[in-house]
Amino acid sequence: MSAATQPLLPGSTLGVLGGGQLGRMFVHQAQAMGYFTAVLDADPTSPAGLVSHHHIQTGYEDPQGLAELARLSDAVTTEFENVPAAALATLASQRPVSPAASAVSVAQDRAREKAHFVACGVPCAPFAVIETAEQLAAVYPHLLPGILKTARMGYDGKGQVRVKTPADLAPAWDSVGQVACVLEKMLPLQLECSVIVARGADGTMVHLPVQRNLHRDGILAVTEVYEGNLPQALVDQAVAAAKSVAEGLQYVGVLCVEFFVLQDGSLVVNEIAPRPHNSGHYSQNACDVSQFELQVRTMARLPLTQPRQHSAAVMLNLLGDLWFAHGDAAQTPPWAQVLALPGTHLHLYGKRDAKRDRKMGHLNITAATPEAARATALQAAALLGIEPF
Ligand code: ATP
Ligand code: MG
Repeated sequence: MSAATQPLLPGSTLGVLGGGQLGRMFVHQAQAMGYFTAVLDADPTSPAGLVSHHHIQTGYEDPQGLAELARLSDAVTTEFENVPAAALATLASQRPVSPAASAVSVAQDRAREKAHFVACGVPCAPFAVIETAEQLAAVYPHLLPGILKTARMGYDGKGQVRVKTPADLAPAWDSVGQVACVLEKMLPLQLECSVIVARGADGTMVHLPVQRNLHRDGILAVTEVYEGNLPQALVDQAVAAAKSVAEGLQYVGVLCVEFFVLQDGSLVVNEIAPRPHNSGHYSQNACDVSQFELQVRTMARLPLTQPRQHSAAVMLNLLGDLWFAHGDAAQTPPWAQVLALPGTHLHLYGKRDAKRDRKMGHLNITAATPEAARATALQAAALLGIEPF
């Protein structure tokens, strides 16, 4: 084995760009397996920085910060898809970086992302790329009603404007500052689902069971994963599509592929995230290998084995709104009552201030049967003030 293919064994240091909750859960998992960790994030109180062995407090483009991350780390990954591709490229000249800058840059840009789906033969929503006033004027009415999405920097439904008629197009584009956009046809959704794929440097691919996702106001609210959450034919189709998207990128690392299932039952790919994903958090408690362990294994070039789900699972996202269920003063949600329910697993990200729409944590509920998992999840939701689902 050459040095480039030898596994990085525990005792090595794994670096991550970004200090949010995904970085924090990566750090926890890496440390559990005996690795040292380094986080680069300018925020001194970032969730991952607070728990990492090393925390480099600079921006993503700071040459000294990047040099320090490369010096400390034996390999580097990212938890945030909007890190400048140049930062990944700089690091890659010194240390193995996964996923590669080329793959991350596709995920950063909705126009390139959609071109990739087309190239892979995976159906996506009908769309038009809008970079100029001429392109805006030439939009075909069949794309309306649609959603104008900024090509870059969107998350949790931000940077999106609904467009009903041709007359709405120009004001919508103005409202996002006339930046490069994708106009997507509004599709009749039956449901949403996602697949987490992990691909090793040797091309080995494994995946987590397909997640069924409920979004509210453009933010993931509930994920349900158990036998029968989706028709088997759809599961097979989604896994095959996710794997071809990963293969086409020669991807190394953990990739989430989000899908729409339309009212006629057809599957359409929505977008990809080049990292673990909120919809994969159930794997921490319901699978024998979590999405964060897959991230550690791929970047450390350890073997990948197909994860097995051992419990039915429901994940509830805990948004800052829950702290304000009883008015304007923040109140701690009733954790002890929630944890009195069997099979509840609380994950909080260590963010000091609760704010509306802010992801503060998640609650995984595991049980022997889907019915039991759902029943407990509904009880927990009622205690927390989360709408039933
Ligand atoms: P995130 O990165 O947090 O997943 P985002 O800001 O990138 O979200 P999208 O995934 O593009 O946003 O859209 C957010 C949600 O809006 C989707 O999960 C879906 O519920 C709805 N949505 C987006 N595009 C369409 C569409 N073309 N037709 C119908 N609904 C859509
Ligand atoms: Mg999305």
